Order: sequence, then structure tokens, then C-alpha cells
Amino acid sequence: MEVKNLTISKVHQGLINKEFSAFELAQGFFEKIQLKDPEIFSYLTLNKEQALSQAKEVDEMIAKKEEISLLAGVPCAVKDNILLKDLRCTAGSKILENYIAPYDATVVEKLKKEKAVILGKTNMDEFAMGSSNEYSAFGVTKNPLDLERVPGGSSGGSAAAVAGDLAIFSLGSDTGGSIRQPASFCGIVGLKPTYGAVSRYGLIAMASSLDQIGPLAKNIEDVETVFNAIKGRDKMDSTSVDFLGRNEDLELKDLVIGLPKEYFIKGVDREVDKIIKESIKKFENQGAKIEEISLPNCTDYSLAAYYIIMPSEASSNLARYDGIKYGFSVKDAKDLMETYFNSREQGFGEEVRRRIMLGAFALSSGYYDAYYLRAQKVRTLIREDFQKAFKKVKIILTPTAPTLPFKIGEKTKDPLSMYLSDIFVTAVNLAGLPGISLPAGSIGNFSVGLHLIGKPFEEKNLLKIGKIFEKIR
Ligand code: GLN
Repeated sequence: MEVKNLTISKVHQGLINKEFSAFELAQGFFEKIQLKDPEIFSYLTLNKEQALSQAKEVDEMIAKKEEISLLAGVPCAVKDNILLKDLRCTAGSKILENYIAPYDATVVEKLKKEKAVILGKTNMDEFAMGSSNEYSAFGVTKNPLDLERVPGGSSGGSAAAVAGDLAIFSLGSDTGGSIRQPASFCGIVGLKPTYGAVSRYGLIAMASSLDQIGPLAKNIEDVETVFNAIKGRDKMDSTSVDFLGRNEDLELKDLVIGLPKEYFIKGVDREVDKIIKESIKKFENQGAKIEEISLPNCTDYSLAAYYIIMPSEASSNLARYDGIKYGFSVKDAKDLMETYFNSREQGFGEEVRRRIMLGAFALSSGYYDAYYLRAQKVRTLIREDFQKAFKKVKIILTPTAPTLPFKIGEKTKDPLSMYLSDIFVTAVNLAGLPGISLPAGSIGNFSVGLHLIGKPFEEKNLLKIGKIFEKIR
């Protein structure tokens, strides 16, 4: 069957009205993946057996006239740093090339409970370090909108699967923009929830004070449905909390949107700037008030603080990959030390090794105070910038990324220029806030992502404003 342009509600209606079965739908997606994915490479591992049997279960429920959830039978994809029991989970790394997940991540368990059909695991930058998917150990994912360009990263496979009609929605992880930036590059919607809103049990840790799992989909309604299914406290993740998100009767005429003055000056492509300014006008035309705010520490220091804190935490999290406990192990080592050194040297890619070294250095005695501790202090200043701004405004608006998707190979030789593509998104992780990227308008094949940032646990407001914007854009 043709599986183009489907959304969660269309699938739900189609299943209930018996226009197609969940099995046919899943088959349709696998056929399309077989046809199209060799070109895009959004999937690393398919989950055919489990997916088809899940689809059959949904069909049986429908046949028995049992009620099904909105996500039942909906084909989706999961980033390959999120564990799905009995399936390979690589985190995009050679060191985990043959690692089989021993249990389900809580988010996967929740999707399975809703009877969503998980088609497979998506490609990603190794251990979620990257902004283009070029740092995957298994090959580059291409942007379905233009195969010469990157899909963004590190959840590039998850974004490309949705944009290429190879899944209806997907899960990604966002440590410093990795859901929002690829959503922007692929012309879809991506939500990074508030820190603690979604359990990370079963997510392969990169930087634990920043990592969050969140949904990517074609529209806000779908993102909301998935978010509602995965959020909430989990006893297996002590950083997760009961989600008490507030829902206000927001109307555009009462809305005050903050525009950080520092974000609209240098380094933003002219075309991106134009579309974002047009979007601001659209909000204004509907009665929203726009207020200039200042986030001075965010623009000047968030990338610097992020690239100390993130590698520090990653260097500690990645210490567990020693060639003994998990995954790849060299065969010809003379002794234990050589097993450690050589397995890590050969198992990790260049970017991961770069960050482990940077992090280990920033944490080492004599340098800890100068780098790690200082970066944490800057993080507090960044959080205070936001707190101050949120006294005046309800949400903050920025571009998601300063440029359109770049060409494959364009930035791999220059890591600093790659890091810059996250200039607008990383501060949100440092402050633990929710952020959403949604398409604002197009330039040729591409759309430009609009980034909305909310107060902690105000996802509902963000989604509501996003929905209004979907109608007026
Ligand atoms: N691109 C950023 C980095 O390379 C963000 C990664 C992420 O959010 N996982 O660290």
C-alpha cells in the first residue's frame, strides 16, 4: 500500500474504518524502506519480526472490536541509542556494533504498551556526538529533501526516516540540539522536553545532565500524541518526575513572545533571517506582542560551556566501554591494559576520542577549577538569563539553526564550524528547558525551522502555540 503523507490520526482513522490493516501498513513501510532506504540510509537495523507480530496483534484487537489507542498500529522508528530488547543497539559506534539490548528502554516499553509498531533503529552520530550524522561509524544518512546534504544530527536518521516517509514518527535524543536541529534540516517538527519530563532509562548515556528523549513527527499534533505517551516519572530513572505540565487558555492576543536581541545579529543566513522575521510578523498580525529580551550569556558562552560540560560528562559515561564489559574487544592484546587501550582506540571514532580527551582534560586535577567548575558557573548564569526573560515573556523565539542544511563533507574538517550549527539550541539543554522546532517557511526544497523555548514543564503551552502557528504560517 502507498504510505506517503500519513499522520497518526490518519492511520488511526484508517485502521478503525478498516481502510487497511496494521499488518498491511507495516508491510507497506518495510517495502518502502527496502526501496528507498539504500539511498537515504536512515535505518541501521530493522525490527521486522517484532513489528509484524505487533501489527497482527493490533489487527486482532480491531477484529474483536476492542478499543485501540491512538498509537496502536502506527509505524515508527527509534534512535539507535535507545534500547529495544533483543535487537542490536549500536549508538552509531563500532564499539557496540554487535551489542544486543538486554531490555527495553522505558520509552520503548511505553510505545509497546500503546501497541505502536517499531519498524527499526535509526542511524545517528556516534554516541550522539555530532550535528550532521557524518560521525556515524556505519555511513552517512542523507537528507531526503536533497541527497547531497546532511539531515542534521545527531538524530539525523530519526528525522530522515520521518521526512522520507519511512516512519510516521520517531524518537530521538537531544543533548545539545540533536532533535531540534535535524527536525529543522528535514522540514519536520521535533520536541526536546523539559529535563526530567521523560525517562531516560535505557538511553545510552552521553551527557547525563543534558540528555533528553523526545519525539519527531510531521506535525505538532503527532508530536504531542507521542510526548503524552512517553512522558512521566519512572522509578528506574531518578531524574524523571511526574509531569504536571500546565495548560493555559492561551490566545495569541495575550501572548508575549520574547526575541533575544543577541540572536538576530551575526552569523545567520540571510534567507533564514528573512523567514524567521516573516514568522514574527505573522504572530504580530494575529495580535501577539513581541518584546525584545536579552540573553547575553547564552549567545556568548553557551557553546563554550556546553563543549566543556558535555565532553566531561561523556568522558566519564564512556569509561564503561573498555573492551571487557560491552561490545568490541581486540583479539590480539598482550595483557589487560592493552585490551583496554586498543579496544577503545579502535572501537571509538575520531570525534568521540576528541571529546573523551577534552573531557578528561577538563576534569583533571589542576584544570577542574579552571574549566569544568567555571563552565558550571556559566551554566547558572545562562539559566538566570532565561529566568529573567521569562518574567517578561511567555515564550522565546529564535531560529533553530543559523543555516540551511549544509552539503555532506562541508564541515567535517572543521569541528568548530560544525559546533556553530547548534548556537541557538544548546542553551536550552544547559537550562533544562523545553524547546520545539517547527517548519516556518520554505526556501526551495528546504524549510527553515522556527525554535520556540518555554518555561520548565510548559510543553503544553509550546505545543499549543505551535499549533496556532501551523495554521497561520
Ligand atoms: N550537535 C551537538 C553535539 O555534537 C548536540 C548533540 C546532541 O544533542 N546529542 O554535541
